[in-house]
Amino acid sequence: MPLIDPFNRTIDYLRVSITDRCNFRCVYCMPEEGFPVSPKEELLSVNELIRLVRIGVESGITKVRLTGGEPLVRKDLVEIVRGVAALPEIRDLSLTTNGYILDELAAPLAKAGLTRINISLDTLKPERFKALARRGDLARVLSGIKAAQDAGLHPIKINCVAMKGMNDDEAADFAAWTIQEEIHFRFIEVMPIRWNLDETIGFDPLSAHQGTGLLQLKQSSNGSMLSDLEMRRMFISAEELKQKIEAVHGPMETAEIRTNGPARTYRIPGAKGTVGFISQISSDLCANCNRLRLTADGFLRPCLMSDGEIDLRTTLRNGGSDQDLADLFKHVVEHKPERHYLADGQKVVGRGMSQIGG
Ligand code: SAM
Ligand code: SF4
Repeated sequence: MPLIDPFNRTIDYLRVSITDRCNFRCVYCMPEEGFPVSPKEELLSVNELIRLVRIGVESGITKVRLTGGEPLVRKDLVEIVRGVAALPEIRDLSLTTNGYILDELAAPLAKAGLTRINISLDTLKPERFKALARRGDLARVLSGIKAAQDAGLHPIKINCVAMKGMNDDEAADFAAWTIQEEIHFRFIEVMPIRWNLDETIGFDPLSAHQGTGLLQLKQSSNGSMLSDLEMRRMFISAEELKQKIEAVHGPMETAEIRTNGPARTYRIPGAKGTVGFISQISSDLCANCNRLRLTADGFLRPCLMSDGEIDLRTTLRNGGSDQDLADLFKHVVEHKPERHYLADGQKVVGRGMSQIGG
């Protein structure tokens, strides 16, 4: 039986955050000093993760993406991939990573059953990389991308958070990369998601969940990351980016690629790869949303951008049956909000991207 939400959307995609830890500190995602992380014992073990994914899959999920935090920092990642890949109903098992230790891990991951990979990269300039990611280095990420290509992880998608005044001047350089290599480059809009707030909440994000039985998280103090307002000011439209690319490379043609989700995709004529735009704030991608998110500490969320989630870990650790857990999956699907309200000023304050699993 498929999982169908109240807005008649089939929910068949689960994003699983396997850790809230990360070796980078991207300015739009985390404060420089990092977030306080969950105690190890609160994170799901390999067996717990695989059991929950299995129950999700038996309930109707067919596509799984592992994310974080940075999934590659989890020592038992290959074991997790092997366990999830072995579930018979899984049609697609992918992973999102910052690519920093991918040169070591690409081959073992492919061997364990990973089918494809998304690598996040916001600049091709080494100094800018240091300013944006605040850890790691560009050369190592590029060698990780090469290792993923060599390991046959296909298609390779590169996700770039597009920010006016920070990296929009590189749009044509990114697109040039797709000419010679089969890279699917996607610009994503910066999302004003902060873990907590020091600003007045102009919109009540909790109201969408009132009375649904979904747990709300508490807020806490701030750190040095871009503010909600700064992120809103850095917005740059897909149209503007496309114009910057076409000013250098000429008009792009529309392209279709399998598994490109909500991206609008184009190709420089004759290029091996494509250029895509994911406008999760300015376009109504919610109408076709098919996702649930499982956090590393075992909470299931129906929406990335609305602060509501339900605790599966307690049921899991208190001897709950597969049926009890499947019922919780159904409950969350039944309470999936129709859409997010970020464009109307909604603020997401419960958890940051690295804690939810972006
Ligand atoms: N650490 C991995 C990575 O960076 O790919 C996986 C987790 S990260 C939270 C997943 C994705 O979320 C990355 O592509 C990252 O660029 C994106 N992301 C994080 N914060 C964001 C924000 N405020 N707006 C838009 N995208 C964001
Ligand atoms: Fe880490 Fe990914 Fe967040 Fe960057 S975007 S800080 S790599 S979790």
